[in-house]
Amino acid sequence: MNPNDVNLLSGEAFPEDLPETNRLRPQTFDQYVGQTEVIESLKVAIQATLMRGEPLDHVLLHGPPGLGKTTLASLIARALAVPFLSSSGPALEKGGDLVGILTRIAPGTLLFIDEIHRLPRPVEEILYSAMEDFAIDVIFDRGASARTFRHRIAPFTLIGATTRAGLLSPPLRDRFGIQRDLEFYAPEDLASILLRSAGLLEIEIEDSAALEIGRRSRGTPRIANRLLKRVRDFLQVHARGPVTVEIARNALKLEGIDDRGLNRIDRKFIETLRTVYNGGPVGIEAMAATLQMDPDTLIDVVEPFLLKEGYLARTPSGRKLTSAGWDLEVDFLANPGKNVRTPARSQES
Ligand code: ADP
Repeated sequence: MNPNDVNLLSGEAFPEDLPETNRLRPQTFDQYVGQTEVIESLKVAIQATLMRGEPLDHVLLHGPPGLGKTTLASLIARALAVPFLSSSGPALEKGGDLVGILTRIAPGTLLFIDEIHRLPRPVEEILYSAMEDFAIDVIFDRGASARTFRHRIAPFTLIGATTRAGLLSPPLRDRFGIQRDLEFYAPEDLASILLRSAGLLEIEIEDSAALEIGRRSRGTPRIANRLLKRVRDFLQVHARGPVTVEIARNALKLEGIDDRGLNRIDRKFIETLRTVYNGGPVGIEAMAATLQMDPDTLIDVVEPFLLKEGYLARTPSGRKLTSAGWDLEVDFLANPGKNVRTPARSQES
């Protein structure tokens, strides 16, 4: 599997894209498009917190990668005017790492832990008393002579982000007073994100072209911004003037993205389920082995959008193609990147 395909699909940052990616991150709630209900309820919680002068209740944000969880956490910190610290489940390997952070934070700090479902269990257990009582229990000795010492820490707010809320242990999940699911974005919302990004990146783009890219971005802002940059490359090489629908379509075809916004991995997934497993049901491990991909990537990144679009169903016995999945034309499962027409380059240069 081409690593670029996984990257495009997951919206994981290419290192060279990072400075621009950070530029595109919304700086205020007004710039944060969509997720209206989540935003409204968080604004109420923030306002009430500011009125009471207490730390905000702990927040759990759930949703596929690239939907804006990290951005939202940083906006909350700004709105509360508190320090923002960011880490991730896999980075906090040892209990000492987390204790080191918790014992040094300033009062009110917003600690963001991405992929919180990947915290090792002993590290997670430190969070229980930290979240509930703003204390860390240090245990000395073992067995009969074991003693516990309670170390007070500054009040703080934990924002946990996860692609898989189901993997969180109940004691951890229950300690989040606010739990919200982020939804895939509508094409119109992605179009307005794209128009803002195009302005920041100084790319001239027609509204209809922004909508076209929005329609093909798997409902995900990070992917939309990524595709905009690929369209910019295409424009630079093959055309002039503003990005039009035709330029956007041709650029996205080259990226292997079809009219429905599915990319190579999506199509390979559907094709494998159809031809190798006769539509399923099949376990995710078997699919991952056939596709030579990591099962977690399939669960976190590939499947959510296929489920949302109604091509795939999860049943107790495994993954199954729906009738919409079966109905996808064979042509469409072929490589849509072929027969790409490039608009003639302008004569005046
Ligand atoms: P996650 O933490 O869920 O993986 P991020 O918060 O890192 O996602 O978002 C990825 C990028 O997508 C951000 O850098 C930002 O540019 C853009 N983005 C995400 N959500 C929104 C939004 N609601 N409005 C505008 N841009 C957004």
